[in-house]
Amino acid sequence: MPDGAAVPTKWNEIRQRIADSQRLAVMTGAGISAESGVPTFRGADGLWRNFRAEELATPEAFARDPKLVWEWYDWRRGLIADCAPNPGHMALAQMATKVPVLNLITQNVDGLHELAGSTDPVEMHGNIWKVRCTDCGQVSADRRVPIPILPRCDGCGGLLRPHIVWFGESLDEAVLARSFGAFEYADIALIIGTSGVVQPAASLAGLAKRAGAYVVEINPDATPNRALVDVTLSCAAGAVLPHLVPL
Ligand code: NAD
Ligand code: ZN
Repeated sequence: MPDGAAVPTKWNEIRQRIADSQRLAVMTGAGISAESGVPTFRGADGLWRNFRAEELATPEAFARDPKLVWEWYDWRRGLIADCAPNPGHMALAQMATKVPVLNLITQNVDGLHELAGSTDPVEMHGNIWKVRCTDCGQVSADRRVPIPILPRCDGCGGLLRPHIVWFGESLDEAVLARSFGAFEYADIALIIGTSGVVQPAASLAGLAKRAGAYVVEINPDATPNRALVDVTLSCAAGAVLPHLVPL
């Protein structure tokens, strides 16, 4: 929105709905972090050494070539380490202080919601700043950039892997239950910056809609969600979200 331009009526209407909400559910995807400089998977900078994410973020790729997979994660960690939360992340943290319940579910692994001040976001796909031992299962925080390749467990010497849910792996049961519960019982759902193709996250908009919620999508590009939501705001998340925070 240009400086000095009036806030669109639709945005004001949505802000009022949010102000009246009792249970708000928010899903974010890579798009909300794009304005912080974190590349999305399906955008123009989604490639690394000509590999697609789907070729590297899999248990098979890690079993075949852990060094290659770690080199990719080390590169991504380096990019993300230089990124800060943007006004979209900040607005969601602020919004949570204005409504009785805001459940924030993210597909992002970058940790930017927490840095913005959101408490307890549900990280459906894990966190790039955590590692897990492939032998003893221990999960720990690890912010080293660069990380020694291959990284080893302090406890047992086993090979560490990123604490990330890869393509073909199951999501944690408790995380799934919290995510589905948030959307099934929401009165308003915001679906922000996700291409809506990675399951099960992609089904949450439909679940909320069928359960009677008012569903708002924020994404400058068309997605499969557009057909089922109540309204799509075709804008960058960082431009619109600050205007949706109740006064
Ligand atoms: P995606 O890359 O498939 O889609 C990103 C979506 O964001 C696209 O639909 C795009 O149109 C939209 N978008 C781009 N800029 C935007 C903006 N400024 N505001 C709002 N929307 C914008 O991402 P996804 O749907 O999250 O799914 C990909 C998977 O990739 C997830 O599993 C996620 O864990 C992982 N991923 C995470 C990160 C991260 O942590 N930041 C980055 C890349 C991928
Ligand atoms: Zn171990």
